[in-house]
Amino acid sequence: MNFTRALLIDDDYVFQLMAAECLRACGISSIETADNGRDALGSLVAVSEPYDLILCDLNMSEMDGVTFIRQLGDSGYTGAFIIVSGEDATLLETVSRLARLKNISLLGVISKPINVEKLKMLLAENTAHSAMGQSENISLTKAELIEFIATERIVPFYQPKLNLVSGDVSGLEVLSRFIGNDGEYNNPEQIIALAEEYHLITELTLSVVGQVVRDLKSWREVVGNICVSFNVSPSSLMKIDFPEDLIQALRGSVLNNNDITLEVTENKMMQYGADVLDVLSRLKLKGFRLSLDDFGTGAASLEQLRLYPFDELKIDKSFVCGLPEDTFGKVAIESAVKLAREIGLKVVAEGVESREVLHFLRKLGVDEIQGYVLGKPMDAQKYFKWRSDIISRRANTGRV
Ligand code: C2E
Ligand code: CA
Ligand code: CA
Repeated sequence: MNFTRALLIDDDYVFQLMAAECLRACGISSIETADNGRDALGSLVAVSEPYDLILCDLNMSEMDGVTFIRQLGDSGYTGAFIIVSGEDATLLETVSRLARLKNISLLGVISKPINVEKLKMLLAENTAHSAMGQSENISLTKAELIEFIATERIVPFYQPKLNLVSGDVSGLEVLSRFIGNDGEYNNPEQIIALAEEYHLITELTLSVVGQVVRDLKSWREVVGNICVSFNVSPSSLMKIDFPEDLIQALRGSVLNNNDITLEVTENKMMQYGADVLDVLSRLKLKGFRLSLDDFGTGAASLEQLRLYPFDELKIDKSFVCGLPEDTFGKVAIESAVKLAREIGLKVVAEGVESREVLHFLRKLGVDEIQGYVLGKPMDAQKYFKWRSDIISRRANTGRV
């Protein structure tokens, strides 16, 4: 999305000047300012053409940023929002949550002082997100979704993983994308929610598995053995035949079952009973590895570990994105690593975007990472090229 009209809210005049400079450097020339939340609410009502971007401080004398966010959420504002503040990371995380709960489209947080790079990065991420079709609403009937799956318009993307001990690419995670009417690849969340609603999520997963089997076969000569992680919805684990159906979809695959990890998101698992225990136990018996995805975000992470036979903890990116400054994230990861060591699980961290965070996680004892620092999710062709380039570089130089 391209932004054209911005509102800056802060009682610090120097900040207003700096932020306006940064906005202009990002191509936004129509900029207005307010000294506090109350004046800002006034200008939101008064303007003839609505703002599409608001930058707001939290600590202001007349009306603070938190009160402003609450009232902004109730006002029906549909533009984008950025918090710019010098407050500590935990408070910023809490306020960010509040903004999202108020349905404000929060692009992110900039810790003061603001500079052009930080602002550009947030705006660019948002543009990339909308380019992925995130904002487009999909409405499909059940029959249309069945057709979508049958014609393989939901395809696998591949995101590499790095082993922090050996320094090698250790495997990949399969992330689904669906192909829109314009031929573009779109993010999976809406289509996955729809597949859950129509009870088609297992069919979607098995279709993607089948496509991965074909891709891996065609890469075998160059890529060799590889570990692959699939996302599996908890509702698939309630289907008593799921292990057999999965094995059927993997027929003719170059993969061994113990090279396959099934990532299960923890947040809904606790609602399920005997069937899930049954299915997970049989998947384990057949050699599949199990990973507890989004670890730390659910209400009962520890209970899940006690109940189910997991091999891996996958720390959610919300604990990683604020590192190395975010003390809470650091302590949470340290505890997860300690726990995992004691009970013999592997620890993977997702959402690693910089080398600095990669080194930090290595020091904390994390085994594997995944994130933009290594590679974004790629379509089959791009992944194959990416991997082949690394393999030939390694053959020529002995280094990755
Ligand atoms: P997830 O399993 O937690 O996957 C991680 C998400 O983080 C992915 O979003 C990935 O593209 C994104 N990501 C990876 N590296 C970075 C990074 O460095 N920074 C940031 N900011 N993000 C990063 P994606 O691909 O949009 O997938 C969203 C969710 O959809 C996944 O979350 C997973 O729960 C679900 N999903 C994706 N494919 C499937 C599928 O085939 N079946 C099921 N049941 N769920 C799937
Ligand atoms: Ca996952
Ligand atoms: Ca996650």
